[in-house]
Amino acid sequence: MNSIKKMIQENIFILSKEQTKQFNEYFPHKVYKTERNISIIVALTQVVMMILFLFRKNIDFHEFRIVAYFSLYIYLFLATVLALVFYKYTYKRNMFKIYSWLRRIYCFLICMWLMGITLLDQAHGADLSVFSYLLPTMAAVLLVSPMESIVIFGSTWVLLITMLISFGNQDGQFGIIINSIFVTVLSIFISFRYYRSMAIEFCDRLTIENQYKEIKQVNHQLEDLAHVDQLTGLYNRHYLHQVIYPMFNENLKNNLHSMCLILDIDFFKQYNDNYGHLKGDECIKQITKVIREFCDRYDANAIRYGGEEFLIIKVDKNEIDALVIANELLYEINKENITRDDLEINHVTVSIGIWDDSMFKVETLETAIHYADNALYKAKAEGRNRIA
Ligand code: GH3
Ligand code: MG
Ligand code: MG
Repeated sequence: MNSIKKMIQENIFILSKEQTKQFNEYFPHKVYKTERNISIIVALTQVVMMILFLFRKNIDFHEFRIVAYFSLYIYLFLATVLALVFYKYTYKRNMFKIYSWLRRIYCFLICMWLMGITLLDQAHGADLSVFSYLLPTMAAVLLVSPMESIVIFGSTWVLLITMLISFGNQDGQFGIIINSIFVTVLSIFISFRYYRSMAIEFCDRLTIENQYKEIKQVNHQLEDLAHVDQLTGLYNRHYLHQVIYPMFNENLKNNLHSMCLILDIDFFKQYNDNYGHLKGDECIKQITKVIREFCDRYDANAIRYGGEEFLIIKVDKNEIDALVIANELLYEINKENITRDDLEINHVTVSIGIWDDSMFKVETLETAIHYADNALYKAKAEGRNRIA
């Protein structure tokens, strides 16, 4: 039972409940213009029919048949004009639920008109021709769901046959009933096909949209991965070149103040030799933690520049004293007290080379880094665990 339900759902209704909700907001954009143009043509046709009637010779407006035809033209004209006005109003305001109901009502009103015309035609011996070509045409141009098409076209047929049997011309009734069944079933079938093709197009669109979103997300993740150093989680040199260089140079043009620190762990090769690479990695991570907290506080960017070298860059509207900032960082790293007994001082130390724009003016970040790097060599040469 469940598999039959699933088969019907997948093959006839195509869309799940959730997708139907989205589809109801999507299809008005697809059908609005076409249906509006068709409605305009319908309204104009009714006007032409009324004019033709009025200019016909020997027309007798006391005759019931003539009044009935004429009333039906007025009825469809007014219904169409109202539909056009309300379609536009609800569509422009994204009132899709009301818009859908209007379409159903209008579709039903056309069916009622069609039934009236068919009954009048049949009353004076004509066949089902208007019903036969208009019902399938409606099915082909008015998008309705399978259930709606069964209800609208089916109830039109039931009403038509009831009226025919009650009030219609008895001649050839059997043939009319058989033909009208055929036309109604054909219309429902056409309507199914139309809805199905739209639903499939919508599903394909959803799939493409979702795939696009996934690709974008993966691209973002890849980009983040390419910019981030695996061991420390800090930005890497790739990020420095791609993002920081252009940003820094742009800020220079805007006369913002800037500073650059290069920090290098002292005697780190020796640390590795004594404690092993894994401990060395741990040490780098601990230093990173201090740097990260420090940069968060100062709104600065930290980059893992080399193995145990870090770059810290800050840009600000106000003047920056790199020496004060670097002193604080040096103090915090010493306070972290990462033990090592291979040095007299008994804990891990760093040396820092600094540059800020009060020392030398620069044109690019490369030059600033160059100054800071020279200063770092000086700090190392002067005995380490210091700033230059
Ligand atoms: P200095 O005080 O002059 O900076 O001496 P140093 O020994 O720190 O200088 P050097 O640049 O010669 O050595 C850096 C060492 O850092 C060499 C390398 O083994 C180590 N290193 C670089 N990257 C990593 C890493 O990711 N993990 C570990 N454990 N060690 C690293
Ligand atoms: Mg070093
Ligand atoms: Mg080094």
